[in-house]
Amino acid sequence: MHFVIITFLGCVLGRISAGWAAVMLVDMNSGGLLDCPGCGAPVSRWQRWFGFLPIRCGCKASPVMWHIGASLGLGGMFLAFSWLVLEADCQSVHEVRPDLPLLYLRLPYHLTLITLLWVATLTDLLDYVIPDEVIYSGIVIALVASVVSGDLQMMHLWVNWDDAVAGLRGPLIPEWIQGFHRLHGLAWSMAGLLMGASLTWLVRCLSHRLLGYPALGLGDVTLMAMVGAFIGWQATLCVLAISPLTGIVIGVPVKLLIGRSFVAYGPYLALSAVLVMGTWRWLWADYFTLRDVFSHWPSVAGLIAFSYVVLCVLLFLLRIFRTLPTEGLRR
Ligand SMILES: [Zn+2]
Repeated sequence: MHFVIITFLGCVLGRISAGWAAVMLVDMNSGGLLDCPGCGAPVSRWQRWFGFLPIRCGCKASPVMWHIGASLGLGGMFLAFSWLVLEADCQSVHEVRPDLPLLYLRLPYHLTLITLLWVATLTDLLDYVIPDEVIYSGIVIALVASVVSGDLQMMHLWVNWDDAVAGLRGPLIPEWIQGFHRLHGLAWSMAGLLMGASLTWLVRCLSHRLLGYPALGLGDVTLMAMVGAFIGWQATLCVLAISPLTGIVIGVPVKLLIGRSFVAYGPYLALSAVLVMGTWRWLWADYFTLRDVFSHWPSVAGLIAFSYVVLCVLLFLLRIFRTLPTEGLRR
């Protein structure tokens, strides 16, 4: 029963997200939710925010449908994610054991991030922008929630597994983290924000050097700052590391099928963030044992360096890929 409620909530929020995306894109390509793309006749307020039917106009313009997809898409994502959290225990790791009510607070907290990522994806797909309103409200929500609850983290700011002995001694968690929950919440969220923003900024500069244009927009930098504030620095690093992979798995077929030469990177970052949140236990402890990597500063630095090398190679491939004539490939 609770999955039905969560899915329904997702559909409603997805529908409102479409309206919000359109309103923020006023004077740009707002996708026909503000006025008819054909004749410019205004769309009613109900249809802009809540209506669930295709928007038709008296003129010859084809009906607007994407808001229905936006609604169903977020509903489906809410269902899948809450199933992963509640039934598959995708976030239960040894180090972080909040009290039960706080464990259940983390779900709406993450669903809030998913909703904001969905809005950013919609605006990015419509007109290649990620409005600051979305990002700033997200960062404020993340910081306030982390400080007030003090227990929303998927992983503490620092956990050391070096001296742990199986069955005898657990990982070392610094004492101040256990003593000052709220202060730790603030430090944890800020560390994620800085990690997300600074690394994305560096990649942006690097791609500018290598390609002659930045492969990431400023919107991607602020988007990753928001993601970091919500999920902390370790998970943010994972998001950045898998995003080129997500980009290849989804972006290359899209390019070959539609032939669109420039695809915004924001949606891939958003998807990677949802993937990391939904598979955290397996990434951290069970299959990839990232906790060993994140216990060591040298390993973390090595991981960052490795990601950079992979990224350089990918950017060079992208450069070659872009010079290929798409028409020839499609035939
Ligand atoms: Zn019209």
